[in-house]
Amino acid sequence: MGKVAVGVAVGLAVVACAVAGLMVGRRVKSRKKWKRVVGIFRELEEDCETTVGRLRQVVDAMDVEMHAGLASEGGSKLKMLLTFVDRLPTGSEIGAYYALDVGGTNFRVLRVQLGGRRSLILSKNVERQPVPQHLMQSTSEDLFDFIASTLKQFVDEVESGSELSPSKTRELGFTFSFPVKQLSFRSGTLIKWTKGFVIEDLIGKEVVECLQAALDRKSLGMEVTALVNDTVGTLALGHYHDGDTVAAAIFGTGTNACYLERADAIIKCQGLLTSSGSMVVNMEWGSFWTSHLPRTSYDIDLDAESHNPNDQGFEKMISGMYLGEIVRRVILRMSQESDVFGCVSSQLSTPFSLQTPLIASMHEDVSPELKEVARVLKETLEIPEVPLKVRKLVVSVCNVVTRRAARLAAAGIAGILKKIGRDGSGRSRSDTKMRRTVVAIEGSLYTRYTMFREYLQEALYEILGEDVFAHVILKVTEDGSGLGAALIAASHSSYNVDREQLL
Ligand code: ADP
Ligand code: MG
Repeated sequence: MGKVAVGVAVGLAVVACAVAGLMVGRRVKSRKKWKRVVGIFRELEEDCETTVGRLRQVVDAMDVEMHAGLASEGGSKLKMLLTFVDRLPTGSEIGAYYALDVGGTNFRVLRVQLGGRRSLILSKNVERQPVPQHLMQSTSEDLFDFIASTLKQFVDEVESGSELSPSKTRELGFTFSFPVKQLSFRSGTLIKWTKGFVIEDLIGKEVVECLQAALDRKSLGMEVTALVNDTVGTLALGHYHDGDTVAAAIFGTGTNACYLERADAIIKCQGLLTSSGSMVVNMEWGSFWTSHLPRTSYDIDLDAESHNPNDQGFEKMISGMYLGEIVRRVILRMSQESDVFGCVSSQLSTPFSLQTPLIASMHEDVSPELKEVARVLKETLEIPEVPLKVRKLVVSVCNVVTRRAARLAAAGIAGILKKIGRDGSGRSRSDTKMRRTVVAIEGSLYTRYTMFREYLQEALYEILGEDVFAHVILKVTEDGSGLGAALIAASHSSYNVDREQLL
């Protein structure tokens, strides 16, 4: 071999070695990065751990906080608000009632015809309508005048041709899902606005008075006879269909629950007189907190950067508004500490860019190639194609976050059952017959996210045990926030109360 040829051969060998070395180096590097990502995942998994033992601690804490919130005003993070609803619909109500549901950016009106024997006919239901943007930042008079004129149009439409006697006042149940300090069954003052409303002049005012004044200005012949919160509406609808319903929970954008409490257990309101000896309590459980909740660094950052830090701690781990955001924060950290997701995109860095329905669709992607996961990563987070193992990891992140949420939600429900003595504890199981207990549930997180629902049910089974769980029914109701208000108006209407007393 000539000198030149030897030189070339040696040169090639050196290049080959260098390339091989580079490739091995890269592989080692990328293996290290993958290990780092898996490490982040393992840490998340550990921090979100919800063993049955831990869930039982949350159940006990919920029970303790419920007692504290009932004992004194401000005694707990749980507000345990009085609703003055002391009678739930039984199904025997008759007559036509209206409801108005104002709960955020949308509102709607409906009319229901009750025929007794649990027969309910929704005679007309106006689809959710957005509240015009300019009215969300105007005056209470403008807002209620707008609502009243929509109601007037609605009444004219549904009653055209019907023979409602002019002397009969129309009764309206009003669902107002903002923080309200209830003063009586049909009155309450607005504590603060949420969800984008800034109508300063209504804060501290009695909301029913303002609505009633607007109805009167339009000569509607309509009286607001009940002011309720959406969870109370859900409980009312649940009870209308099934008399064993004792509690209700909502898992939607936010989360909250209410239940039927003995009046004498509401110590902060001694001497509270109710016709039934009980009253529905609106827990406002979104603000529940205990150190037993499994909290991660992502939760801490999310809370600190939110517009309401140190508030709504339970809600921030459970509800639809936040689950997608927690997942986004985990993926962002993984992407910052390795390059498995490519460069950090601006979408991935944008708070709330990943919404909960999308984590549901990734979590429930059954295609072998995880096509839906790839699509969401690409279209929503601007993360280009990533290997299958990375897509699988994203599914696992969704799973951990949703599983924790659902299991904590189950612990919340078990906490209510414990408070009202329906959890099978504190008595010898053999001597009393276990009572059938129904919990009404609403909210798209529960109804549309199968994995959330299944994890919740599984955890409740684990907490309560097979025997007790067999007597607990989680029943989905539909549209309690609208229909429930009409049903409560009906059950408290003098017409139905007098009738019941005669029966
Ligand atoms: P709201 O709570 O606003 O009254 P919903 O009960 O419909 O209304 O809940 C809406 C919330 O539920 C959304 O903000 C979203 O977080 C969540 N959600 C809606 N659809 C789904 C879905 N398919 N999977 C998971 N979560 C969903
Ligand atoms: Mg709702």
